[in-house]
Amino acid sequence: MGHVIVVGAGQAGASCVARLRNGGFDGAVTLIGAEPVAPYQRPPLSKTYLMGDMTLERLFLRPESFYAENDITLRTDLRVEAIDPAARTITAAGETLRYSDLVLTTGSAPRRLPAAMGGDLKGVFLVRDLGDADAMAPLFRKGARVLVVGGGYIGLEAAAVAAKQGLRVTVVEMADRILQRVAAPQTSDYFRALHKAHGVDLREGVGLDHLVGEGMVTGAKLSDGSELDLDFVIVGVGIAPATGLAEAAGLVIDNGIATDAQGRTSDPHIWAAGDCASFPHQGARIRLESVPNAIDQAETVADNIMGAGQEYVAKPWFWSDQYDVKLQIAGLNTGYTRVVSRVGQGQTASFWYYREAELLAVDAMNDPRAYMVGKRLIEAGKTADPEIVADPEADLKPLLRS
Ligand SMILES: Cc1cc2nc3c(=O)[nH]c(=O)nc-3n(C[C@H](O)[C@H](O)[C@H](O)COP(=O)(O)OP(=O)(O)OC[C@H]3O[C@@H](n4cnc5c(N)ncnc54)[C@H](O)[C@@H]3O)c2cc1C
Repeated sequence: MGHVIVVGAGQAGASCVARLRNGGFDGAVTLIGAEPVAPYQRPPLSKTYLMGDMTLERLFLRPESFYAENDITLRTDLRVEAIDPAARTITAAGETLRYSDLVLTTGSAPRRLPAAMGGDLKGVFLVRDLGDADAMAPLFRKGARVLVVGGGYIGLEAAAVAAKQGLRVTVVEMADRILQRVAAPQTSDYFRALHKAHGVDLREGVGLDHLVGEGMVTGAKLSDGSELDLDFVIVGVGIAPATGLAEAAGLVIDNGIATDAQGRTSDPHIWAAGDCASFPHQGARIRLESVPNAIDQAETVADNIMGAGQEYVAKPWFWSDQYDVKLQIAGLNTGYTRVVSRVGQGQTASFWYYREAELLAVDAMNDPRAYMVGKRLIEAGKTADPEIVADPEADLKPLLRS
């Protein structure tokens, strides 16, 4: 009888073990996580949970009883330190466990500010774990002064929560514009205007020079020479895939733990899924940092451990919530040559990315129909007539029938 060990009790790890049991796997299943709690959802950490609108209980992906009821051994607060692929064992806290298949769902680690910039002062927070959100939540008091370093989705979501709670919020983004790495200028313009309308002091093309404080952060000096007095700082400057364990075991790393189309790493008994894994996609190798990818890829891996022999076909989508705007993104915009804007009433807008005539992706703000139509077209390999897209009065649904 087999023993599947899953390392990393986050979104992908939880999805993998659940799928193994739903799919009828009758060997032993162990899920090991370094955090002290059962698997939970991360997206609310910079949204409703940080806002205080979601209970801890609702954050958990499954009730704790789920694991025992499904004969899944959940080991929390345990960091796996090494893998021996030849012996098919892992070691954690002096204990050695043998596996028939090993799944690495180790996620990613947030980039920290270097200590030389004040990154280790008290009052400087990352937004990755439940512990991070719980530690900063009490500081979200009306009038408090917060600096958000990094204008990516997570930084902007945290800024939105802070502004909604009446904090005085400054965001600095070193690049020319917020969301530069992930979105078109049109999407950056939309979210810049939204944050400014909520009183956020948003500074683009301005980086952090260093934080100021003795023990506790009290201020910041920015790259343009300006200075800020602060109560705390939130750092959202990107993440790196957690590949250390895999690398030390000699697995091939290529922008993440490299897998084949089925999710298998360079070792035939070791698989990877979620934020930590890179995989073949339309002739390239990509890595996705999103909940839908973590779920779908981990479920494919579970199916393949049970012998399905299936290839993982990513259907990328993502979302972000800021103030009363819901952004939904379908597809991947890499390599776009043109963006078509569809601007409706109020805050409704969508931006459609094309590579020549091919539709690649859609950013839809408060427009679930544009998102739904765009997603279905992209998944079917169809495009959308830019003239119809650009006309906010034109019905999009007929595009699906063409
Ligand atoms: C604040 C925030 C907001 C987000 N918002 C969105 C959103 O709106 N939409 C969206 O699609 N995605 C969002 N994401 C991204 C999404 O949460 C991740 O893509 C997803 O959680 C990836 O799942 P995962 O299982 O690969 O990694 P994780 O959920 O990060 O889980 C990995 C786990 O592995 C553990 N681990 C690592 N190494 C070891 C080891 N050696 N031994 C034991 N355990 C180990 C880690 O402690 C961690 O618990 C957000 C992420 C954050 C942090």
